Amino acid sequence: KDYRDVPIVIIGSGYGGAVSALRLCEAGKKVVLLEMGLNWEKAGIPFSNLLKPGKSSAWLKTKSIAPFMNIFSLTPFTGTLDRLDFDHIKIWVGRGVGGGSLVNGGMAVTPKESYFKEVFPDLDAEKFYSHYFPLVREELKVNVIDEQFLKDCPYYKFTRVGEEEAHKAGFKTIRVPNVYDFKYMEKEFRNEVPRSALNTEVIYGNNHGKNSLDKTYLRKAMETGNLEILDLHRVQTIQLNDDKSYTLNVQQTDTSGALIADKVFTCKKLILSAGTMGTLQLLLQSNAENGFPIHEKIGKNWGNNGNFMTGRNWVKPLSGGTGAKQSTIPVGGIDNWDDPEHPFFTEIAPLPMGMDVATALYLLINRVDKKGDVFYNKTSQSLTLNWNESNTLKMRENAQYFIRKMNKANGGTRSHLLFDNGFGADICYHPLGGCVLNEATNEYGKLKDHENLYVLDGSLIPGTIGVNPFVTITAIAEYCIENLIRKNEFA
Ligand code: FAD
Repeated sequence: KDYRDVPIVIIGSGYGGAVSALRLCEAGKKVVLLEMGLNWEKAGIPFSNLLKPGKSSAWLKTKSIAPFMNIFSLTPFTGTLDRLDFDHIKIWVGRGVGGGSLVNGGMAVTPKESYFKEVFPDLDAEKFYSHYFPLVREELKVNVIDEQFLKDCPYYKFTRVGEEEAHKAGFKTIRVPNVYDFKYMEKEFRNEVPRSALNTEVIYGNNHGKNSLDKTYLRKAMETGNLEILDLHRVQTIQLNDDKSYTLNVQQTDTSGALIADKVFTCKKLILSAGTMGTLQLLLQSNAENGFPIHEKIGKNWGNNGNFMTGRNWVKPLSGGTGAKQSTIPVGGIDNWDDPEHPFFTEIAPLPMGMDVATALYLLINRVDKKGDVFYNKTSQSLTLNWNESNTLKMRENAQYFIRKMNKANGGTRSHLLFDNGFGADICYHPLGGCVLNEATNEYGKLKDHENLYVLDGSLIPGTIGVNPFVTITAIAEYCIENLIRKNEFA
């Protein structure tokens, strides 16, 4: 098949790409979506769980790359989880049809309205809270755990203990919605259906129960008959042609990463949805290699969404810790956002190691007071991140304050089991920014200095949103694509 004159190409099948694909296909447009990862549903290969990492567990690595306890050797395969290592930060990303939705914890959190307004002063917050956020919660199938099930289920002891301890320390807790189907989870608990969340399935993909994008937006887009997804197609560079169309140099690989074919695509309209790091890599690398025009704001205003991991050991040792059995789907959080001294939100995270490790794990989300920049280093031919300990100083202070207060009220020590000094300052699940809405793009994600190029993914958010980001990424993508279509950008 000739891909020399495609009307619309989308690069990447995460949240931004899936929303764009659905809305364009519904508007009757033919779309080709290029995804470097595997189409797992089509391939029919099951995802592996945390305790037995297999094919899906890592992107072309010889050893597993979960944030901790990587004792497993692997045969390189185009798995769902990748890790990008920089000097002071490690960034985990999802690969495959569905992008980050395949690997993430499914926590579907709408940001606080006051913070959303602070981060996006130019957006119509009222319209987001009355229309776009409710729309995406519906499309993503967001739901909430039943309180009685949470109270009774042994797999949620870690949440009950976490909440009880937080209250004792004077913190406020909140229920966290998720895209995992909690009705399915109740059935798996009763052994009526195959187990998934209760079978340590997370971060390497999920075989049942989780409504990842392949089951929501992308499935709906495929049903229009207007979407073609080419998996295992990695875009290497983009060139701008004289007639303002784009040429893409693409490598098709097999599941071992070996090259099958070098392909050239040309398209009239191009949407970059390769995720924050993927989109920045494509823009900055293309600029370095072929003079691809980029605006001066590309790479600026990048942040880790305040991600800071920490943990405590020997939580309530006398009452048996957090439990040997743990669901992989988090449902509890601690909301300390309104504390002027130490504003943060933290997930009460599971640690499903198959035994009671008497350890509580927390992923803090903080403000990002000092943003970073992303560059392309021509010598090493790779992205460089201007980001170090100074960027996470305040996050560390918040984590210290949190752990101290929790330990004072409940006993326990800072977790040296999980992290060298008890803090995972360099763990990032939520890279955001670098191609910020209304700075590097116009108000709807159209890139400045370009006529036919759009960015629709996490890079539009200026480094912070105060909660887990995919609900916001999806809502911003809905807002942008709706307006781009309305303005006849894809006519
Ligand atoms: P992505 O979802 O990252 O999708 C980008 C896609 O583009 C990928 O599939 C990638 O393979 C593809 N791609 C990249 N470069 C190329 C290229 N050159 N050619 C072709 N394809 C390319 N967020 C939450 O809100 N709640 C959570 O509970 C949560 N938990 C997380 C847990 C983990 C372990 C991780 C890693 C992330 C988690 N996140 C969570 C973050 C969330 O998943 C991301 O913010 C989100 O997926 C980003 O969406 P996106 O549209 O920007 O891009």
